Amino acid sequence: MDKPFLAKLRRIDPYVPGEQPQSQNIIKLNANENPYPPAPGVQAALRAFDASSLALYPDANGKALKTALANRFSVKPTQVFLGNGSDDVLALAFQSFFCSGEPILYPDITYSFYPVWCDLFRIPYETVPLDENFCVRLRDYDKPNGGVVLPNPNAPTGRALPLDAIEDLLQHNQDCVVIIDEAYVDFGAASAVPLLSKYENLLVVQTMSKSRSLAGLRIGYALGSETLIATLEAVKNSYNSYTMDAVALAAGEAAVKDETYFQQTCRKVAATRDRAADALRALGFSVSPSLANFLFVTHPQKKAADIFAYLREQGIFIRYFKLPRIDNHLRITVGTDEQMDKLIDALRAYL
Ligand code: PMP
Repeated sequence: MDKPFLAKLRRIDPYVPGEQPQSQNIIKLNANENPYPPAPGVQAALRAFDASSLALYPDANGKALKTALANRFSVKPTQVFLGNGSDDVLALAFQSFFCSGEPILYPDITYSFYPVWCDLFRIPYETVPLDENFCVRLRDYDKPNGGVVLPNPNAPTGRALPLDAIEDLLQHNQDCVVIIDEAYVDFGAASAVPLLSKYENLLVVQTMSKSRSLAGLRIGYALGSETLIATLEAVKNSYNSYTMDAVALAAGEAAVKDETYFQQTCRKVAATRDRAADALRALGFSVSPSLANFLFVTHPQKKAADIFAYLREQGIFIRYFKLPRIDNHLRITVGTDEQMDKLIDALRAYL
């Protein structure tokens, strides 16, 4: 090779997020974003933001936002960790907690960023197959491991486990850190936050990208025991002291403080989801029961890849994963009622 430095570069297959097309005329149901704007208080906080304050570094500890989250979840501020989206929080958690050299466990069908972080941080892992209905088989996690990661609801299936199942998982996995990724929990599933007082090895990760309509700001957080949070802080402070910018800190605080708007928005999305699921079933789709802001569907007669391509031509973007076991499925983000009606009309015309 005439350029030997090339052999020394890192080679890795990165995570590929949903497309962000620039055209205004498309119906974007491909990245599990919220179709509604953030809480009115967020607009107010952004308008009131003093740009001259940007000359200074932000509060590296994010005290005001941590306090707002601690109050919201009835934990101490020292049990809250902040990051630049929950991807940042999860990446730091993988680096902080999965150092034993034993394989960590997560479902075979799940958030496709997990294997990417394992490769990046050289963490061994084992995937645990979901059953034929894409349900988690809890007993399959009863084996020695270096940690467990489970999204609840799972992505891209939308299926959720009840709280007693999560507690069962924790009871059988007390010698490692268990991460419950609750990116979609606010749309109807039970959060594991009440279990934090019982399980010091539990880390609950949430995001403001979905239920709080703030994907553009990148705000994620983790809730856990003071021991886990202090470890995350130490790793973060060995990497980048100022992950959260001052604008995100201010807007995030305003978002957490508007509980009424948050509840209303989540209820609206859940109602549209259930209505759209019925309409898709009426068109012959098989729809996994979802407690998230997306639906995971397959059609017995039509190929998922073809439906995906057809909808794209119609200006409707959804998500197709060319992955084992799910390459005939589609993930459809729940938009507004009007957007979902257009999707259903387009599918009816296609079928
Ligand atoms: N966890 C899961 C299961 C997700 O689907 C996503 C969204 N891609 C995330 C975490 C990360 O979301 P964000 O970084 O926007 O908080």
